Amino acid sequence: MAVLEQLTSQQAIDLENEYGAHNYHPLPVVLTKGEGVYVWDVEGKQYFDFLSAYSAVNQGHCHPKIVGAMVEQAQKLTLTSRAFYNDMLGKYEKFACEFFGFDKLLPMNTGAEAVETALKICRKWAYEVKGIDENEAEIVVCKNNFHGRTTTIISFSNDPVARKNFGPYTNGFIKIDYDDLEALENAFKNNPNVAGFLVEPIQGEAGVYVPTEGYLAKAKVLCEKYNVLFIADEVQTGIARTGKLLAVHHENVTPDVLILGKAISGGVYPVSAVLANNNVMNVIKPGNHGSTFGGNPVAAAVAIAALEVVKDEKLAENAEVLGELFRAEINKYIKTSGIVNLVRGKGLLNAIVINDDEDSDTAWNICLALRDNGLLAKPTHGNIIRFAPPLVMNEAQLQECVAIIIKTLKGFE
Ligand SMILES: *Cc1c(COP(=O)(O)O)cnc(C)c1O
Repeated sequence: MAVLEQLTSQQAIDLENEYGAHNYHPLPVVLTKGEGVYVWDVEGKQYFDFLSAYSAVNQGHCHPKIVGAMVEQAQKLTLTSRAFYNDMLGKYEKFACEFFGFDKLLPMNTGAEAVETALKICRKWAYEVKGIDENEAEIVVCKNNFHGRTTTIISFSNDPVARKNFGPYTNGFIKIDYDDLEALENAFKNNPNVAGFLVEPIQGEAGVYVPTEGYLAKAKVLCEKYNVLFIADEVQTGIARTGKLLAVHHENVTPDVLILGKAISGGVYPVSAVLANNNVMNVIKPGNHGSTFGGNPVAAAVAIAALEVVKDEKLAENAEVLGELFRAEINKYIKTSGIVNLVRGKGLLNAIVINDDEDSDTAWNICLALRDNGLLAKPTHGNIIRFAPPLVMNEAQLQECVAIIIKTLKGFE
């Protein structure tokens, strides 16, 4: 079979099944093209993308400005490694630091790497600044978190599928309930070894759990009281997704350590970053940490363009307005629905909870029907469907999508 021959959907699925490790369970649809809020399958059927590659494609598929920046840079210089300087990294670091309001940035490639980086920075800060005894530092995390797939990160996950038979696990984490300030203070109180609190401002993979208003701001105050770093994992919630540039901005919180990934590149290239001020970031010295590809010139060019698009096209403002509209329309429907219990979210990061068991396949079946009706979404659990379209959507398109979703749900009443 020639590599460039156009495959049918079934052929493409068969190839992945035979030659690819089975570490995902994709919805059966084979995409070949994307533009803005749309993707097309190999048979030419058009869909609204309501996943946006887990919020990596906030700027829309194949945004010409971002792709243009990538192509231009790729033709000039792609990789030097950090053994030498390049003329793009510093520009990008300055741009991103000013964009998000931090002193320094550490560039990595994937979200999980950025989380790992933040944990390492936090531990080093614990020993060298806070004065915790070596190897005693602890980091508080929340139950039902999702921070990625490395060995250390799954060590503090409570998803049995992500953990089982991957031990032994990394020590040094304390797990508490999400959205529980009392548990947080109890974890800090009488434990001088706590160095950090790692939290998603909205728990995305868990099913778009929005904490009680004030939770993040009060958690930040507790962190200050106990000299603990507030580490915000905004890999999914950041870059305008929730209606603000960062989800912590809804509560005017500035994290001590900010973790970004996914949409920092508009989904065209793996780019992630950790940002912090000098008092924290300066614990990192040459040789302490690194990545061959982290901070490469293509990543730098792509990230600058992707962040400019967020600002120029007012994506946060658009997400805020369309998100309100989306939840209002779905809430109207829920009043008469026996199949949907609730809709929740912020900006254009939303989920509906289906009136069925967590281990049912109803959400999956609804997603298959949505696909047939021209809209792609994916369950996060058996009874939860996340809806996260690209933020370049307009109001008419959103209304069309709401109509597709409601028509589909009606088929399951
Ligand atoms: C997706 C995600 C990650 C991991 O990012 P990868 O690029 O897949 O490694 C980490 N944290 C959160 C909150 C995420 O949504």
